[in-house]
Amino acid sequence: MIDFTYEKAGSAGQALAGLAGKEGAKLLGGGTNLVDLMRENIERPTHLVDVTGLSREIEDTPEGGLLIGAAVTNTALANDPRVKQRYPVLAQAILYGASGQIRNMATVGGNLLQRTRCYYFYDSACRCNKRTAGSGCDAIGGYNRIHAILGASPSCIATHPSDMCVALAALDAIVHVRGKDGTRTIPFQEFHLLPGDTPHLETVLQPGELVTALTLPPLSLARSSLYTKVRDRSSFAFALVSVAAAVKLEGETIGDVRLALGGVAHKPWRALAAERSLHGAPATPASFRRAAELELAGARGYGHNDFKVELARRAIVDTLEQLVKENSR
Ligand code: SF4
Repeated sequence: MIDFTYEKAGSAGQALAGLAGKEGAKLLGGGTNLVDLMRENIERPTHLVDVTGLSREIEDTPEGGLLIGAAVTNTALANDPRVKQRYPVLAQAILYGASGQIRNMATVGGNLLQRTRCYYFYDSACRCNKRTAGSGCDAIGGYNRIHAILGASPSCIATHPSDMCVALAALDAIVHVRGKDGTRTIPFQEFHLLPGDTPHLETVLQPGELVTALTLPPLSLARSSLYTKVRDRSSFAFALVSVAAAVKLEGETIGDVRLALGGVAHKPWRALAAERSLHGAPATPASFRRAAELELAGARGYGHNDFKVELARRAIVDTLEQLVKENSR
């Protein structure tokens, strides 16, 4: 039994006031991750500030992008006609995640802050540096089929579980944050952290800061975008590997491209080496394979997840092939 207090905030200011000076206070979105962690005794907040009363608006920006409130639900975002038309990769990624009931509850802000599904993180009998600094990592040398192949460290090989965030990484989203010292914006690629020797730090949010919104910049090539996900079951399963891609063709060559991977690292993985290789290249399977090889050059498995390296290469090639085929119709 965890003894905690609860309040519902009607604004970002109220939420910040609710956090202020309360050690152990946590923000509560839809509760689809935090409540699970509380049930497992992994999270033990002393006070919960419910932020589902914050903005649920999706607004057009003057530049032609979208401003998305942090309390918008996954379902609302995936079903927004502007998202479906201008950023289909985002709608697809959301609909590949979780279940209808969970998507109805889960929020955009909570999605960014959800924690890894590493089995050992959820089991308080196991050693986990993310849960208890310096205790060790039972995933290294343990059963690590779902774990990272890129950007891992000797301290932690966990992966980020979100589908939505993979699409947001490819789309160059901007995270809006508010804290006691005011507001700031963070490019999506800089928001999540690799584990290094501090795997308990998962984002650049400072204590007491709050995600208030996201901006999707205008990105014409995002109209031709695709999310693919390889998983053990066809629904309600996390990605072994996923790919978010957007491509603009100029004749037979790739004029512009965005590519990000999920299920492979502690953060949504923007595939910049692959993007560089693809710019101006012929839109052929050989170019896609070369780009995938470059992106995965530094990848390594930890035993049970060795298969992910080749799986990620093939998923990149397959996704780009599908996208180019659709583009050419
Ligand atoms: Fe903990 Fe990370 Fe190791 Fe999993 S991989 S047990 S989250 S330190």
